[in-house]
Amino acid sequence: MTNAAQHHKVIILGSGPSGLTAAIYTARANLSPLLIHGPLPGGQLTTTTEVENFPGFPEGIMGPDLMQTMEKQAARFGTTIVVDTVIEANIKSRPFTLKTNSATYTCDALIISTGATPKYLGLENERKMMGYGVSTCATCDGAFFRNKIIAVNGGGDSACEEANFLTRFGSKVYLIHRRGELRASKIMRDRVMQNPKIEILWNKQIVDIAGSREAGVTSLKLKDTQSGEVSDFAADALFVAIGHSPNSSLFKGQLKMDENGYIVPKPNSTATDVEGVFASGDVQDHVFRQAITAAGTGCMAAIEAERWLESRNQ
Ligand code: NAP
Repeated sequence: MTNAAQHHKVIILGSGPSGLTAAIYTARANLSPLLIHGPLPGGQLTTTTEVENFPGFPEGIMGPDLMQTMEKQAARFGTTIVVDTVIEANIKSRPFTLKTNSATYTCDALIISTGATPKYLGLENERKMMGYGVSTCATCDGAFFRNKIIAVNGGGDSACEEANFLTRFGSKVYLIHRRGELRASKIMRDRVMQNPKIEILWNKQIVDIAGSREAGVTSLKLKDTQSGEVSDFAADALFVAIGHSPNSSLFKGQLKMDENGYIVPKPNSTATDVEGVFASGDVQDHVFRQAITAAGTGCMAAIEAERWLESRNQ
């Protein structure tokens, strides 16, 4: 027996800063939104440590605490929150339809705040060793590597942040980067450079990971991107921090996207090329990708959805 579809004026997909801000705004506008959490409740900030750059928290706040606070605020104004994963979306006709394994939802306006997922190196052993010495989340797994040699791969803010954080645990942290210059912001670069427990291995690409699920990671095979020379490097753990991919596959072929799968809203707007569908946060932002910009675009999406519904007397 299939349950009848539950209809909502507004459905928000995703529970990061963007989705929760959209929820706070649409709930305060009496639209009684439904927010579907998705597979990572709280979004990427739940896998980070301290957030130092979200306004209003002069001493910083732990990522998971910030997300819990936002969720409480969204619930206070009447957001219904469900933990479920949408497996199928049809936005070709209205009302829009979203299916999960256990329910079908319809809505007049849809706000997509599904965020982005960490990228992987694509090495065979990377998948095999995930959770056995290979990780994409220092907050989650750092404590497993007390007094061990930890490698972090990447040259952006994420890699620098993870490397700094991991010095709390590791005896030594190596930041492995494929170029001779970090992409990270100056403040993060400086922190890495000034941290005596971090050493940077420049111009190195990880081409293989040695170890087993029983023994964990034992070493990395590094290829020098300038000389081509390949060498073994002893390490007990690898944290991959090489960027993210947008979580937009549900809408592939139904919405305008760029070549990397980021949803492309209209200029200065969160409105997509499908009327009634709005996109906010990292799923449509490959430039800023900050909690505060995600929250900002979540606010925009809520206001635009509200105005769009009002214009249709819904
Ligand atoms: P990112 O800025 O895209 O950096 C990705 C890094 O990984 C780059 O250094 C890149 O190398 C490297 N990389 C990519 N693919 C690789 C591969 N296949 N093999 C080896 N290396 C690879 O990503 P991010 O660091 O996740 O940051 C994303 C956004 O979030 C940025 O806007 C950043 O400012 C923001 N962020 C901010 C904070 C903060 O403010 N505290 C913290 C985290 C993230 P190349 O440099 O050679 O391209």
